[in-house]
Amino acid sequence: MTYRPGREFLNIPGPTNIPDRVLGAMHRPALDFLSPEFIAINQECLAGLRAVLKTESAEIIAYAATGHGSWEAAITNTCSPGDLLLLPETGNFSESWRRMIDATGLRTENIASEWNVAIKPDAVGARLKADTGHEIKAVCVVHNETSTGIINDLAAIRAAMDEAGHPALLMVDTISSLASMDFRFDEWGVDVAVAGSQKGLMLPVGLGINAVSAKAMKVAQDATLPRRYFDWRELTAVEDRMRFAGTAPLHMFYALQEGLAMLAEEGLENVLARHSRLGEATRRAVEAWSSSNGVSLFAVNPPERSDSVTAVLMPEGIDAEAFRARVLAESKVALGGGLGKLNGRVLRIGHLGDLNEPMLLGALATIELHLQRQGIPHGKGGVAAAVSYLAEN
Ligand code: PLP
Repeated sequence: MTYRPGREFLNIPGPTNIPDRVLGAMHRPALDFLSPEFIAINQECLAGLRAVLKTESAEIIAYAATGHGSWEAAITNTCSPGDLLLLPETGNFSESWRRMIDATGLRTENIASEWNVAIKPDAVGARLKADTGHEIKAVCVVHNETSTGIINDLAAIRAAMDEAGHPALLMVDTISSLASMDFRFDEWGVDVAVAGSQKGLMLPVGLGINAVSAKAMKVAQDATLPRRYFDWRELTAVEDRMRFAGTAPLHMFYALQEGLAMLAEEGLENVLARHSRLGEATRRAVEAWSSSNGVSLFAVNPPERSDSVTAVLMPEGIDAEAFRARVLAESKVALGGGLGKLNGRVLRIGHLGDLNEPMLLGALATIELHLQRQGIPHGKGGVAAAVSYLAEN
């Protein structure tokens, strides 16, 4: 293998770039995880997560797990065999969550949708209104659908649920929105939030997180699906102790402590504004490329476009996988591929986590370079459009 100079750029929508400060924070010895020193770190992290999730009162429970683990924990803690869950279809991740729920033996119901538009809150409300016997136990929503680059309007979904007067829990996957886009656990009446460490929190993969409302904690007391490692009843039974079944993942907490400190230093609202700016710059670039029947934005409705990931639809007949493989091989820029039925049709630009203007512009310029080099139809001036936007905003 010949040496290929320069750093590799990670522009997939997670895992994201891990800041040197976070890596450095992990470079320390293990501690006794029941020592007062570690319990203090744990408590500080739980308080920091509450701030990021915008909740005063939710229980925060973390596991040595991926997002899939926190998905499963949300379900097994709140449901009993035979329960019905409503999952509005958003894309690959609503489908994967549904398959996971199906595997537990529960019943799921889809609200079918095209993947290039957001959930229609009215459709959720109508289905709940029709459920006069209150059979539906929970509505499970992917806040930011990472496979399509579409953000869903949680406040409107909550309002539709309230308007229907239905007691279903609202469970929200915040895996690619937390600490990147606005999320308000308390204000939006979320009952269970599902989060992971490797995106907006800027940490390695390996910490799954749930935030749980008092209502969901109460439901969990009587839910009978089997669970052990993830059991909220066990994990929250002893106040001020470690909330882990078994050894705590110490180094993930060292990382989390540092990641949360960095978010607090930048200021959460500034973090969200940075994501919004970089997201808009990306969209300006893709819009410029989309003239001449070129590549285009997958999400059709502008207000529904995500600030953490942009999905780019390739022109008919162009293989997105071949394009991004060549970008990685020749230019060391890693882009996300299309998931599920979008495989080969879209590529995804991740713009979340520890990212600044030059990192984004490097990726956009490389994409533009490859659109030209690989002979893919596109309009000129994508990078210039992104630069103009950043210069003026
Ligand atoms: N949900 C969303 C929205 C995601 O983006 C992902 C991963 O990218 C997952 C769930 C699954 O998380 P994990 O890969 O950590 O299990």
